[in-house]
Amino acid sequence: MTRVLNSYLSGQWCAGSGEGSPLFDPTTEEVLAKAETAGLDFRGALEFARDKGGAALRELNFGQRGALLSAMAKSLHAHRDELLELSTRSGGNTRGDAKFDIDGATGTLAYYGKLARQLGDATFFLEEGVEQLAANPRYIGCHVKVPRHGVAVHINAFNFPAWGFGEKAALALLAGMPVVTKPATSTAIVTERMIQILVDDQVLPDGALSLVAGRPGDLLDHLGPQDVLAFTGSSDTGTWIRTRENLVRNGVRINVEADSLNAAVLGPDIDRDAAAYDLFLRETARDMTQKAGQKCTAIRRIFVPNDLLEGVRDDLVEEIKRVKVGNPAQQGVRMGPLATASQLKDVREGIARLAQRARFIHGDGGRGDLEGVDDGKGYFVGPTLLEAEGIHDDCVVHALEVFGPVQTLIPYSGTASEAVHGVSLGQGGLVASIYTDDKRFASEVALGLAPYNGRLHIGSSKVADHSPGPGTVLPQMIHGGPGRAGGGEELGGLRGLDFYLQRTAIQGLKTLVEKMTGTGTH
Ligand code: NAP
Repeated sequence: MTRVLNSYLSGQWCAGSGEGSPLFDPTTEEVLAKAETAGLDFRGALEFARDKGGAALRELNFGQRGALLSAMAKSLHAHRDELLELSTRSGGNTRGDAKFDIDGATGTLAYYGKLARQLGDATFFLEEGVEQLAANPRYIGCHVKVPRHGVAVHINAFNFPAWGFGEKAALALLAGMPVVTKPATSTAIVTERMIQILVDDQVLPDGALSLVAGRPGDLLDHLGPQDVLAFTGSSDTGTWIRTRENLVRNGVRINVEADSLNAAVLGPDIDRDAAAYDLFLRETARDMTQKAGQKCTAIRRIFVPNDLLEGVRDDLVEEIKRVKVGNPAQQGVRMGPLATASQLKDVREGIARLAQRARFIHGDGGRGDLEGVDDGKGYFVGPTLLEAEGIHDDCVVHALEVFGPVQTLIPYSGTASEAVHGVSLGQGGLVASIYTDDKRFASEVALGLAPYNGRLHIGSSKVADHSPGPGTVLPQMIHGGPGRAGGGEELGGLRGLDFYLQRTAIQGLKTLVEKMTGTGTH
């Protein structure tokens, strides 16, 4: 009988009653488990998290909460091989792709565990700057940031069931808020196992961490004024969520991380011998094929100066051809299938729409040559490179995110202003990359693109050996972007905690305020 995934609510493992939605191995199409949440008491689970988990976390200082994160990282890392294998089976990830997700989760938890040490025994933040608010110097004001007394609900996308959980949980728990995490149903088996490990190891206080393994049901209907909701997924779902009546009415704080038509810009100064050129090819090809292109930060549009186009086209195709596609568990295979049948359908439809305005250079949305895969089985799309005629403002390549191994070359004149114009047609992105050794071009494009992107990656010859690429989200740097990308912001070191904290102005008698905030000599 097919196993039903368990949710972890109110300190208990439980499963819904009903038929359940199947979760598949995307390579073989074998059913791995089912997910069902019908009948589960989400209202009670949220109350339990607020009352038990929130209170327990707020009794701890930042240093102690950081120690919890370090313990989470250690506990999960001890099960690394098992989690990597599960990630391959349930998400179609190669071992490298799986590491990106699993190690990304433990790495981010460990990073925040370490960062917390510098905050020591504080339980809230005091912002810099004490203001004298009246002629009499005894009346002053300052700002504090304290944990909100609600629950942090985290909804994640299918492509990062581990990292999505880890990066969001690290921030909320460190800030002092309990977490209810809801992975996408199709890959929730990985998150379920991670929570089992943490529960078995008794790493966190009761109520600090809960799991919804399956559809969200009425979960969001019970969120209140002290709660926060961090969502990652498609723009459509993000829009639906942020307009829910009770979320608007209760002023629930919402962060949305959504689609993005990330771009790479090749500078006109780069010739084929430059180290920055190799970097550009390497990072572009990697973004097309890593996790079969199912990365929110993956490069989708590649802007290339007209006179470099022919060379780039040939070199990029050579680079892509080196990637073996097939069964991700097989050694040597560097790209696996898409994660679900609906992803396959969406990607094929998306490629067909792009092909109305761009021509195929490599691949055509078909399966391509596969290694170690049974005939006709699995949700495979081979790497597909297209080329548009030019920037064309109304072109679908600037409007449609095809969430698979698909990129489009777009020729441009080579001027900074045209590059900025072309990239910004994506209406807001998570990351844009600029490959150039010309400092002036880099500055003009970077500052021109800054209002339209959450992060800018500048790949020059001198950093060619050090760059992790634009697709890697580092916890030190903010992640998120304006417009289409959802308008949200996560990570960025301590900046990411702000979402879970209430900033409050306190004004009154100087000696009292100083005593309360521990800043005076009294
Ligand atoms: P999705 O279909 O929007 O689903 C995202 C999450 O929302 C899933 O957990 C899903 O649960 C949940 N959800 C769906 N309907 C909901 C509802 N009515 N109420 C509450 N939750 C609901 O997106 P996806 O297909 O998983 O992910 C792909 C998209 O995510 C891409 O567009 C990609 O660009 C984006 N993404 C963005 C980032 C980023 O950081 N900006 C990162 C990764 C992915 P179920 O699975 O149970 O339906």
